[in-house]
Amino acid sequence: MHRGDIVHNAYGYGLFTGGLGLHYGAEKVGASVIPISGGNTKRQIIIMQDFGPTAITCTPSYALHLGEVAEEMGLNPAKDFKLRVGCFGAEPWSENMREQIERKFNIDAIDIFGLTEVIGPGVSSECLEAKKGLHVFEDHFIPEIIDPDTGKALPYGEKGELVFTSITKEAFPVIRYRTRDISVLSPEICKCGRTFVRMQRITGRTDDMLIIRGVNVFPSQIESVLMQVEGVEPHYQLIVDREGNLDTLEVQVEVNEKVFSDEIKQLERLEKRIEKDIKELFGVTCKCKLVEPKTIQRSEGKAKRVIDKRKI
Ligand SMILES: [Zn+2]
Repeated sequence: MHRGDIVHNAYGYGLFTGGLGLHYGAEKVGASVIPISGGNTKRQIIIMQDFGPTAITCTPSYALHLGEVAEEMGLNPAKDFKLRVGCFGAEPWSENMREQIERKFNIDAIDIFGLTEVIGPGVSSECLEAKKGLHVFEDHFIPEIIDPDTGKALPYGEKGELVFTSITKEAFPVIRYRTRDISVLSPEICKCGRTFVRMQRITGRTDDMLIIRGVNVFPSQIESVLMQVEGVEPHYQLIVDREGNLDTLEVQVEVNEKVFSDEIKQLERLEKRIEKDIKELFGVTCKCKLVEPKTIQRSEGKAKRVIDKRKI
């Protein structure tokens, strides 16, 4: 992105660093920003037609969703928009998804990476020329890969947990901050000519954090909501899937005999209340399903709280 670009910024504004982080970055390089934030997809498409943004920033799954809704509205996203580039991040995605987005919108789709505790967006980014790994901005951050079990630093090329030290950040500097994200660093000079080390796409986490539509969620947070509801048992499972291009979360939780034998209306009311609490507390939309006692499979070791069916 550069001076003259009009950036359609569909990352959420507010406490999430994506919206304001991208916003200030785009202004810094002299681009104009449409601070559209997330949601209201049809309105977003009308704005994209009216204002003619040349760049878009959002999660990759939301980009595909925007494309689909545009098609449903009778538009051709490859022809009816003026987009030339998109910066997508805040959730894991694949080469396959990149191809789909590039084809659908006729743009270059770039992977970007950041984390709230370090700076938000702007820790690393792919280059337009190679799109092979994300250049870490080493003038601001020192990246390392460590063995998550021993904490020992690993050499370039080995897979492990990403760790960052900030060099220029004020007020909230971080020293060897463990991200829990799994990646590999490669020091070879890129074909774009940049010498900054590159990190591979994040392939997973060393903890149980889930990323659902760009929102970070820990199973323990969902659990804290469930355990405040009377009649709910401490047996639950989170089923994550992808419908079309959007992540879905179903929370299945057991209730005791007394609650389960209540009339359907009562159960539905309870489900709605749990869904509302989770949405209001953590900003994530889910579907709650109350199930009979002893229907969720018991584990002899660590309880299996998450079933992630997404194929990324
Ligand atoms: Zn490069």
